[in-house]
Amino acid sequence: MRRPAARFRGPDSIIACAWFPRHNKKKHRGGCVKPAPFAYAKARSIEEAVALLGAHKDARLLAGGQSLIATLNMRLSSPSLLIDINPVGGLDHIGQRNGSVEIGALVRHAQAERSAVIARRAPLIARALPYIAHPAIRNRGTLGGSIAFADPAAELPACLVALGGEVEATGPQGKRCIKADDFFRGLFETALGPAEVLTAIRVPAAGADTRVGFAELARRHGDYAIVGLAASARAAGAGLANVRLAFFGVGDTPVRARQAEAALAAGDIEAAVAALDLSPHDDVQATGAAKKHLAGVLLRRVAKQLTGTEP
Ligand SMILES: Cc1cc2nc3c(=O)[nH]c(=O)nc-3n(C[C@H](O)[C@H](O)[C@H](O)COP(=O)(O)OP(=O)(O)OC[C@H]3O[C@@H](n4cnc5c(N)ncnc54)[C@H](O)[C@@H]3O)c2cc1C
Repeated sequence: MRRPAARFRGPDSIIACAWFPRHNKKKHRGGCVKPAPFAYAKARSIEEAVALLGAHKDARLLAGGQSLIATLNMRLSSPSLLIDINPVGGLDHIGQRNGSVEIGALVRHAQAERSAVIARRAPLIARALPYIAHPAIRNRGTLGGSIAFADPAAELPACLVALGGEVEATGPQGKRCIKADDFFRGLFETALGPAEVLTAIRVPAAGADTRVGFAELARRHGDYAIVGLAASARAAGAGLANVRLAFFGVGDTPVRARQAEAALAAGDIEAAVAALDLSPHDDVQATGAAKKHLAGVLLRRVAKQLTGTEP
């Protein structure tokens, strides 16, 4: 007899339903599992994780497992080796340094939600976190995993771009920093090299003149967004400067709408909506035209958050 397993949203945003046979030791001799066979290694340091990645070309890092395990179970990926980085120390810190907030790769979404530093100094991330999935997933999922996975409909990659943040990557040549605008290269594709581990993200610490805005439209709370918008700006007199609008769910990566940013900095919300430089494609959730319309709706809401005129 077969019964449905959990419903997962695959990386291509198609909702799939995995089926598996009832556990039957005699018939399956314990060998019936959903993923393809893989080896498992615990990394106890970054150096060990980097060395394992270098030695096994099709290995994958395991962080919270909230996206990776689903792709394994649906056999959308079949790495020969999983490198578990959870035992690596020093990757779960949240702190401030040189005007930035630094968040270690293994900080869980739930830990970030409870952080006073993130609430005060990275308020855009604080606003976005409750929209990510559900509490059980936020208890395990990590900020590093979300950024490295680079789902185009995910909240945190867009926040990183909206804040003009950066990614710290550690590889065989040591550490390097990659600007958020250069990090997301394509669908689930980033600037991380094959033997690099994302070790932290950094965003500018919010000051008195920082303004942020966040909104998304999803079918149910916790679902990936149909369209979303993360935004930051600096208050300049009665208006805004340094406006950064990062839409998600409208392309292969978070998408900056630069003409709309310029119009918003000039103080004209309707001109910003008219200037929206987005060309979303149809997907399983909505047509490209519907997404573009919804992006305008979100832009009006977020513009009011940025200007402090939200009712
Ligand atoms: C039902 C469901 C609903 C969800 N809804 C949302 C949602 O609405 N919004 C959203 O943003 N997310 C959503 N997620 C995903 C969730 O946020 C994950 O936590 C996140 O995408 C991945 O984090 P993780 O730590 O679980 O990574 P994992 O699943 O462990 O890894 C994901 C990928 O990133 C790589 N990786 C992980 N860590 C690193 C690192 N430090 N350096 C380099 N590569 C790394 C892995 O090798 C893997 O390829 C949902 C997940 C589920 C199961």
